[in-house]
Amino acid sequence: MEEETTKENQKGIKPLQRECARPPDEGKLLRPLKETVKKARKSMKQKFAVVHRPDETSRQLKAELADKLGEAGWTEDERQPDLVFAIGGDGTFLYAVHEYLDQLENVKFVGIHSGTLGFFCDYRCDEMDLCVQDVTHRSPQCESARLLQVTARGGGQEKTIYALNEMRIENVTKTQLMDIDINGSFFETFRGTGLCLCTQIGSTAYNRSLGGAVIESGLPLLQLSEITGIHHRAYRSLASPLILRPESMIKLRSASFEGAFLCYDHLCFNLDQETEIEVFQSQKQVQIARYRDLAYLQRLRILF
Ligand code: NAD
Repeated sequence: MEEETTKENQKGIKPLQRECARPPDEGKLLRPLKETVKKARKSMKQKFAVVHRPDETSRQLKAELADKLGEAGWTEDERQPDLVFAIGGDGTFLYAVHEYLDQLENVKFVGIHSGTLGFFCDYRCDEMDLCVQDVTHRSPQCESARLLQVTARGGGQEKTIYALNEMRIENVTKTQLMDIDINGSFFETFRGTGLCLCTQIGSTAYNRSLGGAVIESGLPLLQLSEITGIHHRAYRSLASPLILRPESMIKLRSASFEGAFLCYDHLCFNLDQETEIEVFQSQKQVQIARYRDLAYLQRLRILF
């Protein structure tokens, strides 16, 4: 075929056959395709927001990112963004998630670290161009991470919060006693500083410092670990971390949580009146937009 065309061209003959094979109204046929491409390009132009750590480097990175996205036709919209960039570290990423907690169905998150390495952050501060190129031209792999729903009750009051990494009850002023119920049955009485209940994604955070296991992504399990538990002849609790099914319901009860804090991600509050804390994995989930094809274990190896 190629040989024939070459011969035709040598003789100065127009490749008639190819001209005739072309549909007569090609322009009309191409128009819908052009419009689809135009629409697809337009839909790639999204609304974005940037949450950054309050240091000079992060501030400059935010300005640089906003400029570059603006040049690509994206619009900055803090109220209803499609994509939220967290510039700083893992703490900033957690802060960003909590800032957009009521819009999680519509928002995806991208992490950029301006200092030390971060588990949630896929780009270094010197990779801003690559980050902009990725988000404006590629579709991400979305990693979903379900949040813990924590309800603290007592004194006729009820308070509900959400956590991406973990929730902890910590009492550094006196020994905290807690009865632990799992799925409606009494499990044990704990004595010590406190307890940490983490998600899969939080298993590499505080949980890991407590000697908890790292849980690979794709396994939405919960893990309950002790924070300096007291173990001797009179008192004994499990001591080792306990890995629980995703649908588990954990209840922590105490006659007094005086002096204790309920910590969740980077936040905390005093447990004053509360006598019961209920925790389970909620349907609320965070969508992390991953543009880099890095397997979980690879990510883990790089960071630790
Ligand atoms: P931060 O932002 O300074 O974070 C503390 C450290 O935890 C940082 O090194 C951060 O990179 C790391 N981290 C946070 N989430 C992680 C995750 N999912 N996987 C791996 N590493 C992670 O501290 P902050 O704002 O006070 O607290 C935020 C989070 O930091 C908490 O949810 C807690 O898990 C973690 N933290 C850990 C320890 C510890 O390991 N002893 C102490 C405090 C806080």
